[in-house]
Amino acid sequence: MIEVRGLHKRFGAHTALHEVDLDVARGEVVVVVGPSGSGKSTLCRCLNRLESPDAGTIRIDGAELPAEGRELARLRADVGMVFQSFNLFQHKTILQNLTLAPTRVRGLSRDEAERNARELLDRVGIGAQAGKLPAQLSGGQQQRAAIARALAMKPKAMLFDEPTSALDPEMVGEVLDVMTELARDGMTMVVVTHEMGFARQVADRVVFMADGEIVESGTPSEFFDSPATDRARDFLAKVL
Ligand code: ATP
Ligand code: MG
Repeated sequence: MIEVRGLHKRFGAHTALHEVDLDVARGEVVVVVGPSGSGKSTLCRCLNRLESPDAGTIRIDGAELPAEGRELARLRADVGMVFQSFNLFQHKTILQNLTLAPTRVRGLSRDEAERNARELLDRVGIGAQAGKLPAQLSGGQQQRAAIARALAMKPKAMLFDEPTSALDPEMVGEVLDVMTELARDGMTMVVVTHEMGFARQVADRVVFMADGEIVESGTPSEFFDSPATDRARDFLAKVL
């Protein structure tokens, strides 16, 4: 579903991604972990071209991600992204947040988009908040709305970059629960997170990054119970 080959990204003299190869199969949940500055966000941002790589290719469902143009917009719409900061449109209601892109980009009728949006809001447990503005919701509710908004585009895959890092601790669980449900429903997901419990329980595969490279990739029990490298052991000693 997602196929990354030889991805390279520099910021000035600093190499943020070095020859990264990654395959994510349909329905697979890949959790990306690693120390701060290891390139996790840069990888996510390259995956839907919020950042342009210096070298390498990315294929989504067999189609190479082009640098720009209409084809890029279409492929980008296939990959939903959820960030640490919820990035909802602040002056629009939650319902409007969910219907905007589907009507404009996917060409859905207003009725269809609203029906779909309400269904998704119910699914993430905030159906009652549809008419409110983002600022009237808790952080956890806003992040669930952001997930629902991404899902409203019917993406083929979802990227999450530390979706719970900005939340008060008591709201982390409700967002992870929504993500766990999504994973159980078969969504293809790439999740950058520091929530090691989630990684262990929900990931099909854990990818450990350090210094812009994928250092280890294995099942949760391979990674957590018998990490192969010193760098992974050091990392785990700090986070577990
Ligand atoms: P964190 O866990 O702190 O979010 P990360 O693994 O997501 O870290 P990245 O944000 O991908 O790390 O950053 C990788 C490296 O690239 C870091 O050294 C960072 O300083 C650098 N970097 C990222 N974005 C930029 C940018 N726009 N300009 C310059 N340097 C950048
Ligand atoms: Mg990051």
